[in-house]
Amino acid sequence: MLYCARCGCKYPTNTIIWRCSCKEALEYESEQKNTLPPPKYLSLREHSIWRYREALPQLETKNIVSLGEGCTPIIPANLKGFPIWYKLDFLCPTGSYKDRGSSVMISHLKQMGIKSVVEDSSGNAGASVAAYAGRAGMECKIFVPSDTSPAKLTQIRAYGAEIKAIRGTREDVALACQESIEDNHDGQSFYASHNWNPFFLEGMKTLAYEIWEQCGRHGIMPDWVVVPAGYGSVALGAYRGFLDLVSQGMLRQLPRLIIVQAENCAPIYQAYVRNADQIEPINGAKTVAEGIACSNPVRRTEILVAARQSGGFVMAVSEDEINHAAIGLAREGIFVEPTSAVVAAALGRLVDSGAILKKDVALGILTGIGLKAGYYYEGSYS
Ligand SMILES: [Zn+2]
Repeated sequence: MLYCARCGCKYPTNTIIWRCSCKEALEYESEQKNTLPPPKYLSLREHSIWRYREALPQLETKNIVSLGEGCTPIIPANLKGFPIWYKLDFLCPTGSYKDRGSSVMISHLKQMGIKSVVEDSSGNAGASVAAYAGRAGMECKIFVPSDTSPAKLTQIRAYGAEIKAIRGTREDVALACQESIEDNHDGQSFYASHNWNPFFLEGMKTLAYEIWEQCGRHGIMPDWVVVPAGYGSVALGAYRGFLDLVSQGMLRQLPRLIIVQAENCAPIYQAYVRNADQIEPINGAKTVAEGIACSNPVRRTEILVAARQSGGFVMAVSEDEINHAAIGLAREGIFVEPTSAVVAAALGRLVDSGAILKKDVALGILTGIGLKAGYYYEGSYS
């Protein structure tokens, strides 16, 4: 079932609709609640997010579109003398965590008989949706900001998708994409938006299941999980996934979620420090963390709940901190795009301030590969 948390409308799961009639984002609720098996049984399963199939939307096997996404490594690292852990989610097939969501969203759309999709993206989600749509045999058009990283555009084109570059803010790009559907220019296409589609978020829950499985095997669960946030799909997916595990009795308590934004564009952080219940749109400035440059998130309340309920918080890091952290990670052999470096920047500040103790287990999620951000690193050495 699809439902709207604002007006209470309900729709059958197979309804071809991208948002509620009241214009709010829809949520998905499974008709059947299946619990995950213990990790010792999971270890025998396939090497992808579909090893958690009981917890994912129930789809016919023939409709599952997978490229072996997920099951990314967790490695130890050293930050200012503190032992920390990183989950290398940029090692998903298209170079970003987005593949978790795309696999579930495109599989669901394939089951619905959708033949053509449009999407707007700052780059990584566009590349991911283009890859999975291509594999599913769907036509695909991606709306991007005109200043998107060249490597991301090359990747989107290589997967066979059409690119529509839009001048303006990230929100202008989203509006142009939505208008193309509503004006019927792309009337046969479905708006497969990673920010709106509830099945994308279902796929993101696998991040929590994986952390639980991998860390559980070693008998340590993270006290802190640090994630970057623009529209908030990593934070919301992880939060919902950890909640599932707690409600199934598989996990004792939620890890504390630290949700990190770039200071230059931080509507979630601003709502958090105002102690507000709802995120309001802002006029964001440019940031090197292009993947989280979102001034008007679609889901406006739950991410604040996620931070508070888990005992965590929201923070914002400066451009200097991001640049410093990106180079620091690279010198440790970890090559990520500057968006992902916000996580290391936040961890660095928390170590300095004493908020994270040496006995704590802190895990940062690194979301996007550095190979798509060559322009950024070239500039860093001049
Ligand atoms: Zn509604």
